[in-house]
This record gives sequence, C-alpha cells and structure tokens, in this order.
Amino acid sequence: TAETKRAALTVLVAAPRGFCAGVDRAIEIVERAIEKYGPPVYVRHEIVHNRYVVDALKEKGAIFVEELDEVPDGVPVVFSAHGVPKAVPAEADQRGLDYLDATCPLVSKVHRQAERQIEKGRHIVFIGHEGHPEVIGTFGQVPEGDMTLVETVDDVATLDFPVGTELSYLTQTTLSVDDTADVIAALEKRFPDIAGPKAEDICYATSNRQAAVKEIAESCDLLLVIGAPNSSNSLRLVEVAERLGTDARLIQRGHEIEESWLEGIGTVGLTAGASAPELLVREVIARLGEYRTVEERQVKTTDERMIFKLPRQLVD
Ligand code: SF4
Repeated sequence: TAETKRAALTVLVAAPRGFCAGVDRAIEIVERAIEKYGPPVYVRHEIVHNRYVVDALKEKGAIFVEELDEVPDGVPVVFSAHGVPKAVPAEADQRGLDYLDATCPLVSKVHRQAERQIEKGRHIVFIGHEGHPEVIGTFGQVPEGDMTLVETVDDVATLDFPVGTELSYLTQTTLSVDDTADVIAALEKRFPDIAGPKAEDICYATSNRQAAVKEIAESCDLLLVIGAPNSSNSLRLVEVAERLGTDARLIQRGHEIEESWLEGIGTVGLTAGASAPELLVREVIARLGEYRTVEERQVKTTDERMIFKLPRQLVD
C-alpha cells in the first residue's frame, strides 16, 4: 500500500562485500583472452559462480563447457578460478591446446602446500565441501588415496588411519571461519601430532566478508546475501547471520525480493558473495526502493587492497 511504501527501510550495506581479487582477475583473464585471441574463447567450468558474470562473458564471446573434451582443437581455453586437477592442464598440453589458468593464486597456494606435504610423506586431511570444484581441483594435485575429506566435527570422529601415519591438514579457501576452527580443534584433539598450514588457508576475502556480516547481523531483521546457490563463500554468509539469530536469504537478482519479505521489518542487511558484481547490489537496493523509502548506510569493517597479477601470456 501507499502507506507502507512511505515507511522507511534502513539498509545496512556490509563492506567488504562482492568481488575479491581472485574473481576480478579471473574475469579479466577471460576478457583479455577474447581481445587477444578473438572469440570464441572456451572456459572450463563457470569462471566464477555467478550467472550474471557468466552471461555477460558469453555475450563477449566466451563458451562455457564442463570438460576439456568439449573444447575443439586449436582454440584457447581458460580454467576457472576454483582450480583444476593436475590431469586437466596435462591433457591440454597433450592436445596442444593454448590454455590460460585463472585459478586464484590463493587456491594455487593450497595446491603447492598439498604437494609439499605429500613429498614429506604425510597423509592430508582436507577440510572442505564434497563436490565443490575447488575440492576436486585440490584432490587432483596429489596421488589418489593420499588425501581424505572431512566436512564436519562428526566426520573427524570417523577417521581411521594405520598406526604411524603422519598427518597434515589443509582447508578449502571459502569455508566458515568458525566451523573450521571447530573442525581443526577436533583434529588436533584426536591427532595431537597433526601438522597444519603456517597461515590460514581460508582466504582474506572469505574471512573479511564473514566478519562484516557479523558486524551488522544483530542490528538487522533480515540479511540478504547476493550469491549463487553453488557459491560456497555466499552460503557461508547466510549461515553466519543465521547463527547470530538473524534471518537470512540467498538471492541472485533483485526481482526475487517480494514485498511480503519486508513485513514488519525496519532494517535489512545486505552483502554479496565474492563472485557477485556490485551492479547487483545496486539492483537489489533499487528493488527495495520500490517497496519502501530506503535509507542506505555502509558499514565498513576493513579495507581490501589485494590485487593479483595476470598470467604472463596476457601482459606482454
Ligand atoms: Fe581467491 Fe578467495 Fe576470491 Fe576464492 S574467494 S577467488 S580464494 S580471493
């Protein structure tokens, strides 16, 4: 009604939110590859988990496929930000394909750590979400059987290794900071000699976005997270709010928001996963403005200045 339209709605916009340096770089790699080689440029897997981004790149001449055998000979192919098993670049080399690796450098860092642990003769316990492409890529860095996946504290109780197995743990980059701390604590309790990474594998963007949500969640009646259902870091943002007792919804586009969601609500929190462009944040605020008079406020918990270099093939 006209009356509710006039009612004010405070929108607390979390910062940092949205694109991280790894996503920025991955998108730029595809765009520059199209400029350099001309369309089409093939991309193995969604370059980042966001439909809007994928559709925009399709318009520019990118073709998305799930496996290399769908890429014809003689055209360039880009590997997504989530990373790939070693077998994938090996196959590309064998076929003589020109490939560009958009794996986030922070994911590559975990890949190198995995290799090093295996060289030291350790078995790796990997904390991550089954089926996520980053997990598949990281498992594909080491010989089969040398890495075991755990997702939860309960999984830790079921682990069983031969006596004398030296262990080490690593993690996916986009996990819940709090849950992961619990899983690590459970691992260290069960296997006091387990070795861990020097610095946290959960990336700066994931932890900063979770911290920003924690800052606003308790002041909000509802938190909206812009992100895809297959985006791990976005799903974690929903959980962070829910743990603090704040209702949260994952949305992909502004039009999904229904007026009934705002009934009795004075303050909405808004954030975006690392693969969601800022344009969608503006779209969501515009949609909220169709129902209520929006008063927008940014709540910034930290500055981000991370930038990653492009692959050499694209800079000269
Ligand atoms: Fe890299 Fe983190 Fe962004 Fe993933 S979320 S692309 S690991 S910076």
